[in-house]
Amino acid sequence: MQKLSDFKDDINKCSKCGLCQAVCPIYKVTGNDCAVSRGKFVMLSGVLKGDLKLSENINKYLDMCLKCGKCKDFCPSGIDACKIFEAAKYEYAKKNFFSKIIFALQSKLIFNNILKIAGKINSLSTHTSVTPPKRGLRLLFFRGCADKALPNSEKALKKVLSKYPEVKLIEKDFDCCGVPFLSSGNLERFEEAKKQNIEILNSTEFDYIITDCASCEDALKNYQFTEKIINISEFIAKHPKTFQFNKNLKVTFHKPCHLKNYQAVKDILKNCQNIEYIEMKDYDECCGFAGEFALKNPKLSAKLRENKAQNILSSNADIVLTLCPACIIGLKSALFGKKHPPKVMNLIEFLASADIID
Ligand code: SF4
Ligand code: SF4
Repeated sequence: MQKLSDFKDDINKCSKCGLCQAVCPIYKVTGNDCAVSRGKFVMLSGVLKGDLKLSENINKYLDMCLKCGKCKDFCPSGIDACKIFEAAKYEYAKKNFFSKIIFALQSKLIFNNILKIAGKINSLSTHTSVTPPKRGLRLLFFRGCADKALPNSEKALKKVLSKYPEVKLIEKDFDCCGVPFLSSGNLERFEEAKKQNIEILNSTEFDYIITDCASCEDALKNYQFTEKIINISEFIAKHPKTFQFNKNLKVTFHKPCHLKNYQAVKDILKNCQNIEYIEMKDYDECCGFAGEFALKNPKLSAKLRENKAQNILSSNADIVLTLCPACIIGLKSALFGKKHPPKVMNLIEFLASADIID
């Protein structure tokens, strides 16, 4: 587990060029340099030199981050800001009473039991059955926490994949991908989940790991196995089917921050009959939910959701699609109370509602 001091050289690599300001959604709505990588690095540099304490105020700015990774993609020094913020948050959280309560709730026993209860409420057993592959393409399904708690996304994924006779879906008892723990600065729990998941991945034969959640996809790609992890949308785009809808609909798509392959989504929508795809303005801008971000920054989250809602409404779409359970919540809350809001749907549930033709 890396400490903040392990990132001293990375922090010092920041040239203060300010390019991260141009892409950071939080800087765009606050105009506050402390909310973007550059300003946070100035504070953390002060902490490492001993000039500043890792205080509640600095942690407030660390929490003011969507973990969208846009600053990393645009940083000429290639600094992975999120990793540095996670290490700093962990050091702060270890000494903070409320963080200790959150960490206790995130323990494997309590966290998994919460998911089981949610799964039962939503009439889904979280029991996993192992289907050993006999032939064909072996897809190891990474069942995320949302799939455990909410039945519709997983049912839709299985329905769509049932149209591919060459696919053998393998199911295992994975832990959470760890994204919610990183969000809280709970690096110990993240490492525990990662270890269990890597053990399963190392002891299972598969061709690809498939996920229906952009955040799980990003977390798994950061473990290792990068080439083997595919989003369900990439699989469908590479193995195209025709999706026949029985009425004309206009759809738009919100790209989750961590979804890697947006082109795959566009390719799929081209194969949807009676569907018109309208690209909304700022389709890749965060919906403002981002896990704990919405709880810790309610006003900022509301501002981002309002921007997103206006862009969705301007598209005049009947349905807004996405590929992340957290974004579904963010989009629904963004559109709550609006006049004639479009329906919010997971892309795979949308595809599963069509007649699927070879
Ligand atoms: S883009 Fe990178 S180098 Fe430039 S100010 Fe931001 S963090 Fe520093
Ligand atoms: S990860 Fe996203 S929200 Fe956080 S500092 Fe970077 S660009 Fe801003």
